[in-house]
Amino acid sequence: MNKAETGGKTDQAKIAISEEEWRSKLTPEQFYVTRKHGTERAIPNKEKDAGMYRCVCCGAPVFSSETKFDSGTGWPSFYAPANRGAVSEHDDRSFFMRRIEVRCTKCDAHLGHVFPDGPRPTGARYCINGVTLQLDKDAKPDKASKVTPKHE
Ligand SMILES: [Zn+2]
Repeated sequence: MNKAETGGKTDQAKIAISEEEWRSKLTPEQFYVTRKHGTERAIPNKEKDAGMYRCVCCGAPVFSSETKFDSGTGWPSFYAPANRGAVSEHDDRSFFMRRIEVRCTKCDAHLGHVFPDGPRPTGARYCINGVTLQLDKDAKPDKASKVTPKHE
């Protein structure tokens, strides 16, 4: 069986920015988490505003408030990315655990991990470091947040 990838090509060009440039663009904590794959302390997340959460490094829309839910972990949690191709998933075998790392597709920023114990409809729990996200309240969430268009 060959994969039927018809028209699903994403033209999200990666951007190449040197470590020094990232360092000057980001706060030390943002740099540590997104570029060094660190994990921030779980900070009770009080962000309840609607909007689009953008990658703090490159501004790409990665998660929408539409798919945000309270996981009780203290980290912002989503059951789906903002759109197909917004984030990429990678095997992470650090800490002797097998986890799936989530990165910004556009700039490869480390955002967090995805676990298979989320709510419906996807059953996925994207556990994201809050410092990697920037809430854009002006973005209309419904425009890009549809998980997968059912009809076409
Ligand atoms: Zn990015």
